[in-house]
Amino acid sequence: MKHIDETKIDVLLKMEATEKEIDDILEKTKQLKRLSLEESAKLLSVKGSSVLQKIYDAASYVKDTIYGKRVVLFVPLYISNFCANSCLYCGFASNNKLTARKKLTFAEIKEQTEILLKRGHKRILMVAGEMASSKENIDYYVGAVKAIYSADYEGSRIKRVNVNVAPMSIENFKKLKESGIGTYQIFQETYHEATYRKLHVAGAKVDPDDRLDAIDNAFKAGIDDVGIGYLVGLYRSNFEILAMLMHIEYLEKTYDIGPHTISIPRIEPAPGSSYASKPEHPITDEEFKKIVAVLRLSVPYTGIIMSTREMAELRDALVNLGVSQISAESRVTPGGYEENSVHNEKLERQFSVNDQRSLNEIVKSLLLQGFIPSFCAACYRKNRTGKHFMNLAKPGEIRRMCDINALVTLKEFLEDFARADVKELGYKLIEERKAVLDNTSIGILEKFFRDISIGVRDKYV
Ligand code: SAM
Ligand code: SF4
Repeated sequence: MKHIDETKIDVLLKMEATEKEIDDILEKTKQLKRLSLEESAKLLSVKGSSVLQKIYDAASYVKDTIYGKRVVLFVPLYISNFCANSCLYCGFASNNKLTARKKLTFAEIKEQTEILLKRGHKRILMVAGEMASSKENIDYYVGAVKAIYSADYEGSRIKRVNVNVAPMSIENFKKLKESGIGTYQIFQETYHEATYRKLHVAGAKVDPDDRLDAIDNAFKAGIDDVGIGYLVGLYRSNFEILAMLMHIEYLEKTYDIGPHTISIPRIEPAPGSSYASKPEHPITDEEFKKIVAVLRLSVPYTGIIMSTREMAELRDALVNLGVSQISAESRVTPGGYEENSVHNEKLERQFSVNDQRSLNEIVKSLLLQGFIPSFCAACYRKNRTGKHFMNLAKPGEIRRMCDINALVTLKEFLEDFARADVKELGYKLIEERKAVLDNTSIGILEKFFRDISIGVRDKYV
């Protein structure tokens, strides 16, 4: 596979490290420096629980220094489960006769968005299967993004639409960018070539190099916030992490920026897929934690996304170790947010969702842990994307702006959408977080809060 040197990864996987070497690497991470592949491989080789704890502590330190206490919340919106591909692990695979197919109209997409706005959501990840015609795909994606942005619930609008859709040409990526997307996200699924070819047996997705090219094409089209990832369970995770870091090195060398986000979705049972119920390389929750911590340390400036595929308790723990964005109350079915829905979620969904908590409950759980649930999209709206964002994020400068914006968006959520118990916790947390801000930040924040009290919304720095 392009950019991925499997022989080199096999050598790296055999590396071991003394505790002193691990301590030296962790010392380097305190300066928020990017790690080399060798250093990441050494961290991955750690087994003993006391050394692992040092890795966890370092990951928490890096997360806190760069991102502060904020955790960004988003919700996926599945718009179509028609797919021309046959990924053996996915409920939407074309050969899966169990799945009831549905492609939402633009009016339905707008309606779904309004339901999400009513619950307090501001950031959407739009997800779709891939149709056979690239023209049909791009026209549908662009229309869908526009439909999402056109939705309005009592003046509340979606601030940022990220998309997870099929690869496309540079020309079509340009159209997607013009529609106003935030991040373009695509997962390589597995960086191990033989496994990739075994699991992708029909449709446009059969070629692993075409899939890698999607990120290049997005960059070339001017989309500078890209998200990458792999599907946990298809191949050995330590191999995948090193290969993904190799992919990142290639992107940094070629475009001078790395990915905006990394996702590590774990494979879940899917209707009609016997593979998904018995993946070949499942990992334990402990291994999952290690992966998140090593990623946090290896690429400190890159956001890490966690979906509702994970159980509530594990998600709470991972936020401490480096996860910076989480989804909430996800339905992985087109039309899944319909109120009083009569559709058969079991037969239309892509896979099983484990964390079924409502947005209010997830906000509450973050507040109880001292985190600031954030609905902010200021960087994207102020053009702090790509290299500009990285330059701010790298030395930890983004944190001051993020803290203010996160607190403003939290206050808005509390005023407009929160339950009484969540409100009480939220106001308490705002006071605690305000107490540790500098005077300039407090001044800006208080001005925003006065505006909120007279009905002004959506102010940011
Ligand atoms: N169809 C596009 C594609 O494959 O890139 C985008 C949408 S696809 C629904 C989004 C992601 O869902 C895939 O990239 C894959 O990693 C993930 N996925 C597929 N089957 C899954 C399963 N059984 N459990 C968890 N995640 C799964
Ligand atoms: Fe289609 Fe994507 Fe599912 Fe593969 S993972 S079958 S491309 S929706």
